[in-house]
Amino acid sequence: MSADPRILLLPVLPLRDVVVFPHMAVPLFVGRERSVAALEAAFDRPAKDILVVAQVNARTNDPAAPDMFDVGCVATVGQILRLPDGTVKVLVEGRRRAKILRFVDQSPYLSAEVQILDAAEEVVPESDDLESLRVEARQAFEAYLKVSRRVPQEVLASVAQIEEPGQLADTMAAHVGFKIAERQELLTLAPPVTRLKRLVELIRAESETLAAESRIRKRPQPGTGARSGQTPPPGDAAQNAEAAEADEFKNELEELGRQIEDKELPDEARQKLEREFKKLRSMNPMSAEAGVVRTYIDWVLSLPWLHNSEDKLNVTEASDILDADHYGLDKPKQRILEYLAVQQLRGEVGRGPVLCLVGPPGVGKTSLAKSVARAIGREFVRLSLGGVRDEAEIRGHRRTYVGALPGKIIHALKRAGTSNPVILLDEVDKMSMDFRGDPSAALLEVLDPEQNDSFVDHYIDLDYDLSKVLFITTANNLGAIPWALQDRLEIIELGGYTEQDKRQIGRKYLVPRQITENGLQDVDVQFSDEALATLIQGYTREAGVRNLERQIGAVCRKVATEHLKAKEDKRSWRIDAAEVKRLLGVERFRNQDSEKTDRIGVTNGLAVTSVGGDLLLVEVALVPGKGRMTLTGKLGDVMKESVEAAMSYVRSRAHQLGLGKEFYQKVDLHVHFPEGAIPKDGPSAGIAITTALVSALTQLPVRHDVAMTGEITLRGRVLPIGGLKEKVIAAHRAGIKRVLFPKENERDVEEIPQDVRDAIELIPVEHADQVLRQALRLENANAFLIEPAGYTRDYLGIFEEVPDTVAH
Ligand code: ADP
Repeated sequence: MSADPRILLLPVLPLRDVVVFPHMAVPLFVGRERSVAALEAAFDRPAKDILVVAQVNARTNDPAAPDMFDVGCVATVGQILRLPDGTVKVLVEGRRRAKILRFVDQSPYLSAEVQILDAAEEVVPESDDLESLRVEARQAFEAYLKVSRRVPQEVLASVAQIEEPGQLADTMAAHVGFKIAERQELLTLAPPVTRLKRLVELIRAESETLAAESRIRKRPQPGTGARSGQTPPPGDAAQNAEAAEADEFKNELEELGRQIEDKELPDEARQKLEREFKKLRSMNPMSAEAGVVRTYIDWVLSLPWLHNSEDKLNVTEASDILDADHYGLDKPKQRILEYLAVQQLRGEVGRGPVLCLVGPPGVGKTSLAKSVARAIGREFVRLSLGGVRDEAEIRGHRRTYVGALPGKIIHALKRAGTSNPVILLDEVDKMSMDFRGDPSAALLEVLDPEQNDSFVDHYIDLDYDLSKVLFITTANNLGAIPWALQDRLEIIELGGYTEQDKRQIGRKYLVPRQITENGLQDVDVQFSDEALATLIQGYTREAGVRNLERQIGAVCRKVATEHLKAKEDKRSWRIDAAEVKRLLGVERFRNQDSEKTDRIGVTNGLAVTSVGGDLLLVEVALVPGKGRMTLTGKLGDVMKESVEAAMSYVRSRAHQLGLGKEFYQKVDLHVHFPEGAIPKDGPSAGIAITTALVSALTQLPVRHDVAMTGEITLRGRVLPIGGLKEKVIAAHRAGIKRVLFPKENERDVEEIPQDVRDAIELIPVEHADQVLRQALRLENANAFLIEPAGYTRDYLGIFEEVPDTVAH
C-alpha cells in the first residue's frame, strides 16, 4: 500500500437511502451478512474506521463496485448490538469524506482503497464574503426549519456555534430532507466554500417545495362528508392521490378492526388491543407513530394465544415413532418414554422438570426432540440460545425503544402457530451474560411452572400463558449450563457414536434421506460398506453424524449431476470407496492420528472436547537448564496444576527412576499439547503428562499403541475422570490397542459399546507406578523402575550415582 497517510485500506459498508456526512452520527440497522462482517472487521481496527457509501439504487441487494457512488464518508463504528431478529444495530459517526480509488476485496466483506478528500489542516481565510455566506446559510436553514417542522429547534442553536464553512455545510446537510442525489452531490463537493454555497441553493429549493406541498394540504378536502362516487375536480393530481390514500387507509383500518373482533384473545389482550386500535384510528396514517402502533397490533394478532393443538399422548405409539426415526440411542429413548408416561398419567404435558439432551453436535438431540413433537402431535420450533447475551433477546425490548421487537420466545410462538408447541431451546450452555442483564434469569422464569403461566415479553407487555408449552433443552457441555438452570433440568446424556453405529445410521437413515433430497429416488444408487467406512474415516471427524450426512449429500449431488450428463440412460450407481474418492477428491483426514512408532516424551492422552472424545497428544522436551517449566498449547489453570502434580510425583520417585536428587534443578522442562487452537483443561491428562515426563527424563520410549486417562495426585495415586466412554471410543477410532484408566471408573466400562470393548484392552490402574510399567518400553531397562547403570544416555547429567545392584 501507499505510504501516503491520506490513502487507507478500509472495509466498506454500502447503505441504502442514507448518505452519511462528516460530523454526523447515525444509528444504522444492518442485516446483510457482508455488511455485518465489514462492521465487525472495522470494529477490530485500531481506529474502528469504515467507509460508508450510498448505493446508487437502494434496491440492489448485493452491491458490487458499479452499484455504489464513488465518494463516501470515513466513519467510526460504535458498539455493535445484535438484535433478536439477527440484524445488528450500530452507531456510526462520520469523520471525513473520501473517494474510492479501487475495490480490493469482495469477501467476506467489501474492502477498498480510499483517498481522504477533506484536508483537515486547510483553513479557509476569514473574509467578509465568508461571513455573509454563513449568515445567508443560517437564515436559509432557519427558514427551512419553520416549514419542515421535522428538525428540532435545538439544532439551530448548535448550528449557530459552527464557524468552519465546511462543517457548517455538512451539519446542515445532515438535517435537511434532501433526496439521495442532492445529498451525494454535497458529499462530493470537497472545497468548503463551494459546498456551503451549493447547500444554500439546495435548502432554498427544498423549502419552496415544502411550502407548496403544505399549501395543497391545507385546501378543503373533496369527498369529506359526501361518500364516494363523487369525482374530484379535474386536474388536481395531488389531491386525487391523497384521497385515494386516505381511502385505502380507511379500508385497512376496517379490515384490522374485523381481525381484532374475530381473534380469540384473553380479556386483557383484547382490552389492550382495542385501546391501541382506537389510538391508531385517531392518528395521521403517514406518521411514524402510526407505524409503530400498527406493527404492535399486527404482532399481538399474529400470536396463537388461546389456540392449542390437540395432544395424542400414547406411549406405545411414541415408542414406535422414536424407534422409527432413530437407530440405537436406547437409553435416551427409554428416559424420554418414561418422561412421557408420567405426563400421560398426570394427563397434561408441560409440567414437571424440563428435559435436557446433552451431547456433542450431530448425535441426534434435535432430531429426538422433533420426534417427541411428532409422537404427541404437536408443532415443533427450534430456538437457538447460542451467543445470547442480552436478556432482551429472550424477553424483547420495550416499545419505547426505536425499532423494538419481541424476544425469541414470542417469535417462536408466532412460528409455531399454537400455544402448546414443543419448543427446543438449543444450546442452553452457550448463553453468556454481560452488562445488559443475565439471559439465564429470564430463561429460568420461562421454564418455571410456578411463573410461566404469566410470562411477560417487554414488547408485547401482556401476560402470555407458556404453561402448555413443552420445553426441551439441549447442550453440548453439561458443565457450562448455569447451575440454577441445571436444577430445573432432567439431564439425558447422549454420547458419541462408534464407527459401527455410524455405518448403521448412514445406511438406514442418512443415505435414503439424501437420495430423496437430491432427487435420486428413481435412480438405483447404492453405497457399499467400504464407501461408508471411507466417508466416516477419511472425510469426517466427529462424535455425531452431521458431517457424515453432509458428505453423503455431497456424493449424491455429484451423482445427480453426472446422472443428468450421462448420455446413455445410465445404469445403476454403485458407490464404493474408490468412487467416493473420485467424487469427493482427496481424503480430508489421515486414517488415524495415533503415533505410528514409539517415541520418547510423547504420550497419547484422551480428552473430551465439544465434538466428543479425542486423542490428546502430550509432548515433553527437556534441555539442560535451571528448573524452569514452560507450558504451551492453550492450557487452562487446572492443566498447569496437573503438570506440577506430575512433577511432584516424579520427584518422589527420583531414586527409583535413577534420577539424581536435584535433577529437576538441572533441566528446563517444556510441556506441549499440540493442536493449540483447541482449549484444553481438566485434570484428566495427569497420568499422560506423568508418563511423557518420565519418558523424557529416562529416555525410555512410550508405547505408541497405549492411551491413557486419569488424574494424578502428588503421591501418584490415580483418581477417576469423566467421559470414559467417549474417550475409549476415540481411542478405538485412533487405532489404540490398550487404554489405561482409573480403577474407580470401572463401573463406567459397561457403557462402552461391546464392539469397542472387544477390540481394546482396558486396564484399570490405581497408581502411576502401574501406568509407567504398562506404558513405557522397559525392555531396555533392567529393572523397575530403572537401573541407570548400563543405561548411559545421561546427557543431561541428572542420573544418580548408584551402587551396582538395585532392589526391585
Ligand atoms: P444434534 O441436535 O445433536 O446436533 P441432529 O439431531 O441435528 O444433531 O442430528 C444430525 C443428523 O443426524 C440428523 O439428520 C439426524 O436425523 C441424524 N441422526 C443423528 N442420530 C441419529 C440416529 N441415532 N439415528 C438416525 N439418524 C440420526
